[in-house]
Amino acid sequence: MGAPAYMDPKKITDITIHCAATPRGKPFTAAQISAMDLARADLGNQIAYHYVIELDGKTTQTLRHDQRGAHVGGHNTGNLGICYVGGVLEDGKTPADTRTDAQKVATAALLKQLRAQFPGVRIRGHRDWPGVKKACPSFDVAAELKRIGL
Ligand SMILES: [Zn+2]
Repeated sequence: MGAPAYMDPKKITDITIHCAATPRGKPFTAAQISAMDLARADLGNQIAYHYVIELDGKTTQTLRHDQRGAHVGGHNTGNLGICYVGGVLEDGKTPADTRTDAQKVATAALLKQLRAQFPGVRIRGHRDWPGVKKACPSFDVAAELKRIGL
């Protein structure tokens, strides 16, 4: 298993929101998501995200802020990754905003906490990074930030 590299927790400039690309309504724990990350050679066999938000809103920190994640190709230093369970339909592939109300509430609380901790940090979805051709996180992060007043 790859050990996450060190990154300077005082130089966090970005937060990126992801989905786990798991089927709508199907429960996965943070530990299960991390186990799937560790099995992926393309991620360097390391935990990808700093936080995982389960269907019931339970939020688990899966990496420390001084550990580099593996969630945006070439842009992981200074970038905290947040992943919600879900993001595709029951077919396991069609992108969809499957967030439960509990996940929306938990995500907003986490983002507000992190924004307070890291003033000026940029928050965006995976798909909002230049050159990314993915649907992840299957919702409009800018619209969500406006909705929650961030
Ligand atoms: Zn993603």
